[in-house]
Order: sequence, then structure tokens, then C-alpha cells
Amino acid sequence: MIKINEHFLKLQTSYLFSTIARRVNEFQQQHPDTEIIKMGIGDATRALPAACVAAFHAAVDEMAADATFRGYGPEQGYPFLREKIAENDYHGRNVDISPDEIFISDGAKCDTGNFQEILATDIVFAVPDPVYPVYVDTNVMAGRTGSFENGRYQNIVYLECTKKTHFIPDLPETPVDLIYLCFPNNPTGATISKADLAKWVDYARENRALILFDAAYEAFIKDETLPHSIYEIDGAREVAVEFRSFSKTAGFTGTRCAFTVVPKDCNAYDSMGNRQSLHALWNRRHSTKFNGVSYPVQRSAEAIYSHAGKQQVAEIIDYYMKNAALIRREMDALGRDCVGGENSPYIWIDAGGDSWSLFDSLLNNAGVVCTPGAGFGTCGNQYIRLSAFNSYENVQNAMTRIKTALK
Ligand code: PLP
Repeated sequence: MIKINEHFLKLQTSYLFSTIARRVNEFQQQHPDTEIIKMGIGDATRALPAACVAAFHAAVDEMAADATFRGYGPEQGYPFLREKIAENDYHGRNVDISPDEIFISDGAKCDTGNFQEILATDIVFAVPDPVYPVYVDTNVMAGRTGSFENGRYQNIVYLECTKKTHFIPDLPETPVDLIYLCFPNNPTGATISKADLAKWVDYARENRALILFDAAYEAFIKDETLPHSIYEIDGAREVAVEFRSFSKTAGFTGTRCAFTVVPKDCNAYDSMGNRQSLHALWNRRHSTKFNGVSYPVQRSAEAIYSHAGKQQVAEIIDYYMKNAALIRREMDALGRDCVGGENSPYIWIDAGGDSWSLFDSLLNNAGVVCTPGAGFGTCGNQYIRLSAFNSYENVQNAMTRIKTALK
């Protein structure tokens, strides 16, 4: 008899986006003339940078001729892209990461979700609350948690990120082996200073723990004192894996390209307490289960690092950050407590009550869709998330409508 992995039965159906869609549809049916503005989505809206499009076209043309055609590429990614990443994203910031420590993939979602696979199932892991749900659900699937009770899974150490903690997790009170961190954060938009991140690196070194650091939004950092990479912290190479993505940086959400950095001196331990190289394990896992990102996509991603590509990416980021600044300004003016929007495309806003109530109020009275914080964990119950991924005109309209509705 074929049997299922019963850990999947513990997963909570993600009601968040289906409930949002249902409520939006109901509203639209009742108000067919209202143009709804969607401020909840975390998907890029600006076109690919012109340099990426040109490189994409050129690579497709190469694929069209026998002489330049490429079949399977290296599973870890083409050296031309890995070298550009190492040089620009790391050496450019005085961070020591070599090209062969970089694994190109088709998304940070897959990588942040899959990495736990090379770790033991009986480890204790910690996630921030609120959290990007992929970290939690993939560990539930792997059997690292108990059942879901009162809004939380058993056997997870939840690190509460609240106004009191400045939306940065405090070190855990009970020992943990694996820690997920995400800065700039989704959903809160909060950032972490080098000094606060150093506390986590020190914790991991002292406790032989591992940090999975999701830096998918690092390109939105404006404050030059903030770390773009966890490897800007001394000792992080030994205890941290970093995930990056071109999705939000250069509009690759539909094109798909990202990368994971696993330093060669980053170790975990076998049951005898012997050190094992995570680089070697991840290389084995990646090359067994993944056959590389397509050549044209990698050429397109490489163009991000050209002179023109850098300028065009900076323009895209500035565009979203202008949206973010407007949202932040208007929310501040309304007297709403909020975080984010200064070094990230998300603004996390105190709902002044239940997050679904404010969601309904904004939908019904302003025709604006937000994301209720409840979908990201119990600490999100009193918050909503607004996203800067939109046209400036839409954001202006949405702010005018919200001001009228909430005043
Ligand atoms: N990590 C975080 C924190 C995200 O918010 C997202 C996307 O929303 C991802 C990873 C996924 O990125 P990718 O498009 O590279 O899969």
C-alpha cells in the first residue's frame, strides 16, 4: 500500500491569499465601477532592465545556431555569472566569497525551502514571528514540528518581532540549532544593524548553530551603515548560509534566477560530533536534484552587473523606494505606527486592532487591498503590510483614498 508523508497533513491551508481573493471578488461584484488598487502583492511590476533584455535576446540567438548552442550547463551555474556575483556583491563590499561558493538557482523560495533537507530532522529550529511562511512549512513537511495549536506549530522556537523588540528577534531563551533570519525583512520591512547581526553570529558560533540568512531584499538598503550581507560580520563564514535573489532587484520574479552562498568553512556535525562540510553536502544535493538555470536567463542576470545594467537596476529600485517613501510618509501623517519602507519595499503598519478588520475597512471604504499581518504569524495579528511594488500613480491614488477612509 502506498503511503503518504503524513507530516504534510499538519500543514495549515494557506487561507491568506484565497481569503483575500474571495473578499476582493465579492467587493468587486457589489461595486463593479470601483477600480481596486492592490497594495498587498510582493511581485515586481517594472519591466526587466533593458540591458537584461538585450542579453536575454542575444543568448536566445546563440541557442538558435548549432555552433553556439548550449545544452546542459553546470548545475551550480555558469562561471561567468558566479564570478560577476563574487566580484560585485561580495568583493566590492570587502567580503571574502569565492565564485565556487555561489550556487545559482531558480529562486530563493526553492533554496530557503530546500536547504533544511541536508540537516538532521531532530534539530531545534527558530523562526521569527512574523515570518515568510516558506521557512516554517518546509520544516513541517520534513517532520521537524508537532501539530498546529493556537496559531503555532509545536517544537518551533518562535522569535517574536514586535514593536518592543524593534522588530528584530532577541536571542532565544532555549538553545536552538538552526535559525532563520531575513533582513531587510518580509513582511515587516525592518532592518538589522551590524552590531545586532553580530550577536546572532556570535550565538551561532558559541552554540555550533547555523544561520540561514535570507537577503532577498538587500538591494533596497539605502542606509550605508546597514549590512547587505551576513558575511560583513566577522566569523559569519563559519556559521551562515546566505540566500539572494534577482526577483525583486531586477524584476526576475517571472524570469527566475537567484543564488545561495555556502562558504567552504561552514560546517555542521554528524551524529558522532564530527564536522561535515555544508558546501560539499549542498553541492551534492543541488547537483543531484537540480539541472541548472537556463543559459539565456543566466546571461540576462549577468547583464545586471554591466555598467548599464547597474544604472537601470538602480532606477528600478529608486522607483519602488519612491513609492515606499510616499506610503511611509502618509502613514506617519495619519499617526499610524509603522516600520519599514526606508530600506525595504514593505511597510508594516499597526492596524490598531485586528488585521482583518483593517483589511475589510480599506477594501470597503477605499477600494485598496493590503495584506493582513495575521497571515505571517501570531505577531502579525495587529498589523497590515503594504507593498511598494506598484506604479507611482496607483500608490498616490491609494494613499489619497486611504487618507479619506481613515480620517
Ligand atoms: N525570500 C523572501 C523573504 C521573499 O519575500 C521572497 C519572495 O517574495 C523570496 C525569498 C522568494 O524569492 P524568489 O522569487 O527568488 O523565489
